[in-house]
Amino acid sequence: MRIHHLNCICACPLGGRLMDGRSPSIFQRGSLCCHCLLVETEAGLCLIDTGYGLRDVRQPGARLSGFFLRLMSPDFREEMTAVRQIERLGFAPSDVRHILLTHLDFDHAGGLDDFPRATVHLMTQESEDAQAQRTWLDRQRYRPAQWASRARWRTHVSRHGEPWYGFDCVRDLPGLPPEILMVPLPGHTTGHAGIAIRTPQEWLLMAGDAYFHHLEMRWASPYCTPGLRLYQTLMEKDRGARLRNQQRLRELVRDQAGRVRVLCAHDNTEFEALAARSIQAPAPASGMSASAEALQPSRQ
Ligand SMILES: [Zn+2]
Repeated sequence: MRIHHLNCICACPLGGRLMDGRSPSIFQRGSLCCHCLLVETEAGLCLIDTGYGLRDVRQPGARLSGFFLRLMSPDFREEMTAVRQIERLGFAPSDVRHILLTHLDFDHAGGLDDFPRATVHLMTQESEDAQAQRTWLDRQRYRPAQWASRARWRTHVSRHGEPWYGFDCVRDLPGLPPEILMVPLPGHTTGHAGIAIRTPQEWLLMAGDAYFHHLEMRWASPYCTPGLRLYQTLMEKDRGARLRNQQRLRELVRDQAGRVRVLCAHDNTEFEALAARSIQAPAPASGMSASAEALQPSRQ
């Protein structure tokens, strides 16, 4: 089972260094990746989260909220959309048969429309909450304009007694191999879930927005940048559940080292370690390694 790491468009938040911890100043905008996974399986390609899509790039104002466009000012480069990177890898958009969403926030669901043959898996709670549009913030974060795929959504509930390293999980996702599970991790949103993938070496758990900075997973004195701490507080649906799940993830990292590797959606350090390239670079073109491509003359 081969896994590709795709950054599907950076957010460039106000606060610079206060957010990403590595921009030179707090007065310029920062960069936060949107880490998506493309998994090659016997059932076809599975995409874990979609980042922003082609229509977000072309018409951001029609799809996204003015509030988040000003706050996050995404770097709308078409070549960084999931669909364009998947094409660079040598696949067709129709090869993507399944999409698993950690949640329905605008920066995770924007690419859904680019994969018309995919079944979209998400938690039932997330689908219900997003469509209810209860609060002002819900209407900014959940964007029905991104959901042309709604007829292909397949929602799941977690049943007790299907444990995965101390977490409940959803197994036997229809059409998907048993190596892919959903692991509910509510807090950031009520129907938020991690996606676990069994590789020959270890389990990979994409924890979505359950945490935002890799040092939050450090057992001794966890750390998060002040900007991302504030952002997580602004966006949380259930603070108690969010903090409890972060603690459980820290325990998982501590106790299952070598068996489970945990990653999140917006940490640049994790992305660059796993993808072995900068957050600014799209997936290497098919048949070409990242290092070989770096030697090619620039097309600009
Ligand atoms: Zn996010």
